[in-house]
Amino acid sequence: MQELLYLVIPCYNEQEVLPETARRLAQKLGGMAAAGTISPHSRVLLVDDGSRDGTWQLIQQLHRQNPLFSGLKLAHNRGHQNALLAGLMAAKDRCDMAISMDADLQDDVDAIDRFVAEYQAGSDIVYGVRSSRASDTPFKRNTARAYYRVLGWLGVEIVPDHADYRLMSRRALEALSQYGEVNLFLRGIVPLIGLRSSAVAYERHERFAGQSKYPLKKMLAFAIDGITSFSVKPIRLITALGVVIFGASLLCLGWLLLTKLFGYTVDGWTTLMGSIWALGGIQLLCLGILGEYIGKIYQETKRRPRFLVEEFLQSGDIPNIEEDAACSKEDQ
Ligand code: UDP
Ligand code: MG
Repeated sequence: MQELLYLVIPCYNEQEVLPETARRLAQKLGGMAAAGTISPHSRVLLVDDGSRDGTWQLIQQLHRQNPLFSGLKLAHNRGHQNALLAGLMAAKDRCDMAISMDADLQDDVDAIDRFVAEYQAGSDIVYGVRSSRASDTPFKRNTARAYYRVLGWLGVEIVPDHADYRLMSRRALEALSQYGEVNLFLRGIVPLIGLRSSAVAYERHERFAGQSKYPLKKMLAFAIDGITSFSVKPIRLITALGVVIFGASLLCLGWLLLTKLFGYTVDGWTTLMGSIWALGGIQLLCLGILGEYIGKIYQETKRRPRFLVEEFLQSGDIPNIEEDAACSKEDQ
């Protein structure tokens, strides 16, 4: 029996790129269904993450034209990770495997065949790994590399150069649904699931149209989430730092007493001011790190829903493969 594939695409203000993305995905899935690689009931699930532009109208239109497209509308903008989770959870009971990818065509659509081949060879999770970072700015490339190194050092198990382009089997999705955390960092959670996994290398392109929805501020918040959701090492570092500084201050005290005893009452203004500032800074930094974890605990204890579905569009009809051009220019 052919296996049913869901492509889960989070979309936030993606009206510029969505028609082209839909066209290419319809072509791809149509081709695969025709070749018998996947079930003809396979779907593209477009998750509207509370967009403010015409994204949802576009999704409705695509759904009307071709049953291949399903739509899920979140009541608010909940961010990429939550939108992705919402889509994966909607797909969980309807598919045999789900592939998550971005709406902007940065992820190579042609890698889907290799994902499915890995799945058929027995993998429950297939990670899409970027073969090069040539399409990134040097800033992003270097910060990403340093970030992966820090994560590894902190003991967070993560697949380097893997974003959220991945295939998960129904079994893996079932496991994912049992992770109840509110601070989502899927790249950290998925490797925790275990099961059999493999990787597929792909070339990441430039965004096809529209603008990145990840400004530096959001990216930093995401990076901090990745560390604080998976590692308590920073807190331990604070303790270690405290011990070192306490030791140093004891030495300093001894030295002060000695100088006092031998009569050198040095004016010591610089040292004094220096240490006040340095210690103040370190204390604030440590408080900040602690606060970060306490904030996390606060959010987790509230157990708020991670997303709220406003509408779900799904048709039981078999998609018409010939109609895959249905979402071309004239529909925009
Ligand atoms: N996205 C989302 N909600 C958000 C921000 C982004 O669903 O609040 C989606 C976006 O539509 C895209 C994917 O997440 O499909 C990745 O975003 P983007 O391409 O802007 O990030 P970048 O590739 O620049 O890191
Ligand atoms: Mg992108």
